[in-house]
Amino acid sequence: MHQGIMKAWLESSHLYGSNATYVEEMYEAYQEDPSSVSDDWRAVFDNLPPVNGASADVPEAAHSKIRDYFRSLAQEGRRKGAARMTDPEVDAKQVKVLQLINAYRFRGHQNANLDPLELWKRDAVAELDPAFHGLTAEDLQREFNTGSFAHGGDTMKLGDLVKALKATYCGAIGAEYMHITDTEEKRWIQQRLEPTLGRASYDKGVKTRILEGLNAAEGMEKYLGAKFPGAKRFSLEGGDALVPMMREIIYRAGEAGTKEIVVGMAHRGRLNVLVNILGKRPAELFDEFAGKHGESSGSGDVKYHQGFSSDFETPGGNVHLALAFNPSHLEIVNPVVMGSVRARQDRRGCADGLSVMPITIHGDSAIAGQGIVQETFNMSQTRGFKVGGSIRIVVNNQVGFTTSAHHDVRSTEYCTDIAKMVQAPIFHVNSDDPEAVAFVAQLAVDYRNTFKRDVVIDLVCYRRHGHNEADEPSATQPLMYAKIKKHPTPRKIYADKLIAENSISAEEVTAMVNGYRDALDHGDCVVKEWRPMTLHTVDWTPFLNREWDEAFESSMSFERLQSLAEKIAYVPETHPLQSRVAKIYSDRHAMAKGEKLLDWGFAETLAYATILEDNKRVRITGQDSGRGTFFHRHAVLHNQNDATTYMPLRNLAAEQGPIDITDSVLSEASVLAFEYGYATAEPGGLTIWEAQFGDFANCAQVVIDQFLSSGEQKWGRLCGLTMLLPHGYEGQGPEHSSARLERFLQLCANHNMQVCVPSTPAQVYHMLRRQVVRPMRRPLVVMSPKSLLRHPLAVSSLEELANGSFQNVIGEIDALDPKGVERVVFCSGKVYFELLERRRKENLTNVAIVRVEQLYPFPAEEMAKVLEAYQHVTDFVWCQEEPQNQGAWYCSQHHFWAAIPKGAMLTYAGREASAAPACGYPELHTHQQESLINAALNLK
Ligand code: AMP
Repeated sequence: MHQGIMKAWLESSHLYGSNATYVEEMYEAYQEDPSSVSDDWRAVFDNLPPVNGASADVPEAAHSKIRDYFRSLAQEGRRKGAARMTDPEVDAKQVKVLQLINAYRFRGHQNANLDPLELWKRDAVAELDPAFHGLTAEDLQREFNTGSFAHGGDTMKLGDLVKALKATYCGAIGAEYMHITDTEEKRWIQQRLEPTLGRASYDKGVKTRILEGLNAAEGMEKYLGAKFPGAKRFSLEGGDALVPMMREIIYRAGEAGTKEIVVGMAHRGRLNVLVNILGKRPAELFDEFAGKHGESSGSGDVKYHQGFSSDFETPGGNVHLALAFNPSHLEIVNPVVMGSVRARQDRRGCADGLSVMPITIHGDSAIAGQGIVQETFNMSQTRGFKVGGSIRIVVNNQVGFTTSAHHDVRSTEYCTDIAKMVQAPIFHVNSDDPEAVAFVAQLAVDYRNTFKRDVVIDLVCYRRHGHNEADEPSATQPLMYAKIKKHPTPRKIYADKLIAENSISAEEVTAMVNGYRDALDHGDCVVKEWRPMTLHTVDWTPFLNREWDEAFESSMSFERLQSLAEKIAYVPETHPLQSRVAKIYSDRHAMAKGEKLLDWGFAETLAYATILEDNKRVRITGQDSGRGTFFHRHAVLHNQNDATTYMPLRNLAAEQGPIDITDSVLSEASVLAFEYGYATAEPGGLTIWEAQFGDFANCAQVVIDQFLSSGEQKWGRLCGLTMLLPHGYEGQGPEHSSARLERFLQLCANHNMQVCVPSTPAQVYHMLRRQVVRPMRRPLVVMSPKSLLRHPLAVSSLEELANGSFQNVIGEIDALDPKGVERVVFCSGKVYFELLERRRKENLTNVAIVRVEQLYPFPAEEMAKVLEAYQHVTDFVWCQEEPQNQGAWYCSQHHFWAAIPKGAMLTYAGREASAAPACGYPELHTHQQESLINAALNLK
């Protein structure tokens, strides 16, 4: 190695000699950023022998050691007769020049020309001034080596170099990328920015396309403003460049072979994107402005939350576009979009993410303000959630409703700083320079496709009107709006530029404006690339207009089930298991052979196996889902010798459905939103989100309220997502007892979702299968058990699985004479077994116990059947573990009242109303539990 370094040293350095300061500074620059020194020098530093215990990979040698080392090399060189080639003073200047280049790459964006209004005041960055580095006016005339700066030749006059650096890094694009540690990525970005000085040279065709985009963006808003004055439209004006930018992104993606793009965006500019990119018919939008009711049977939603789907023709092939429906919560749609993209990628068998691309469009206040953004970035490279990178665009109008961006909206320099957590490159761009906008749009697509990682475009713009069109923005932003009033529109600025450079004539510009207005008058689609949808890969029609109580066939032969049972219990001998896990698998083996009744984990796993064998997909994510929070699932088996994993469920048959059981990031909101997105794009299989404890779903309440429970009503989007929420009062205190059943029940109406509390392995088996086999696709909320996972009474036989079906209500199982029954107790969940055991212990024969396994939609007919035998009974009790203000009592009692015979009474047996879900003291818990069982069974 020593010889190699010596050679590089002798050959590559025109500065060969004893200039220790030069070497040291160069080394310092290298340590900060290896790409800041020339390739030759990087090779030298990369090959430095480790000093002071530093590893060979990271030669963290102390500077003095480096100096000594090079001094010794120099002496060796001199002994060999090599001549000194340059002046040490020039050498030192050369280092300063390299540092100046570095400074522009690191900090040029801070002095870039980003704000169209020029209100954003930024201090001059001292390091960008050659004088800061000791470079003089004289030096500007001297030639220097330009290191890795990818413009011009190896050397340049310093004056020209500074101009080139300014043009590249302080023009309309502020490129922030030196926080990326991967040298290849940085080099790649430099190679894209520096040779062209951060500008593309577009031909007339592209320039016209860009102008058309601006023309459409402005024309649309002006038209709406004139036709529906004062109506809320959340105008894009000021950020008009979003429209040509989106177009360039789609063109570029089409060229790269992308087949689908899923877009998520909030309200600002949405109508514009709907009409000018997605190709929604203006006439349809005008009808919505006029208040006309759509065809949907549900509640509908305001126009600026609507989604849309279409195909878009690009020279590289057609691309399917889907704009996701979006509630008012600004950023929550991001993980939904990612989930939808992942589902489409999985369906296409696309592991690198190239065929489906996500675009999320953010506001500057929201991207900085909302934690879900961080959660989504955090997911972006994880196994279960990665999508090959997303394009994230910020429409940065520098004001949040009425809140000033630079004082009150954030504590970070840029609104996009959060993106640095995943080392995403960030391109800030002045929206009044649409060619620069198009340039970064293309760059972003190429970066995403090359490195499969997130990339951010910060479109620095302004908002021409108030937050909405009824607002008066000067009340709170007087200076900004005084400036905006006088500021020409982006279309005018660009049209004037193109006229001045003779790319287009004034007449053509006028014709373009009039042509667009006429097209709007006509009401037909204004996107010439629009094509009818043919490219989406899934058909939802078999799932439309289905009901939960429709008949369906889900039984399967005992032999087939037993064979599957053996397969899921099989683990190769070469895969040694931890002893407790091995015991679970030897038990499963006995269950498969019929020597043991099935427990919860086995029946649940068997349900997945049957679905997979039918060639359908199963996807389960959640905190600790592979093992199961309570050690019951063990779907992913860890080899105790080499830590490899084995999944019996992936080894059922040569031809079977795919299964992913992935431990999720430690988040609820983004993960549930992702799975919602996944399930709304994939109707075929089973998609499950599992909470570690049910109450964790609290943190995902927005997703539950705004998507899961109401997405079908608002937007006609079906979703068969299953949520497994561990629930049950086991004395674990206020936080881990309740999945807040009452909140789900309170959201139930219009048969929007199912809320189930299965109590046996057979029930969980049938419930999971039903969710796939039955054609209805609606969310399934499951209060899943904890202690029942191992309860000796909570067992089932293989026959019950083979022949049965999910029972929404389970009547009395003991041989009580109905005539002797004086009280009927209704309940759900694990309290059933406590009631049963106690009743058996007390030899009570006058109390029947009825389990309600599906609380919503309430199974009135099945309940009526069960109660046929108890028409003489007047004493009915609802027993629950939850406090009275929680659980099912208030939300479901009208169903119980309707079910019991006329004149009968319904009373409550459960905990007293309480602010906390459960008590924290084990003794008190036990006392409360005993009391409620006693009350239900009428015991002292
Ligand atoms: P997309 O691929 O999301 O653009 O959807 C294409 C078409 O499939 C839509 O226009 C809808 O007609 C239908 N579709 C997509 N997702 C759903 C869903 N979750 N529920 C019902 N229909 C859907």
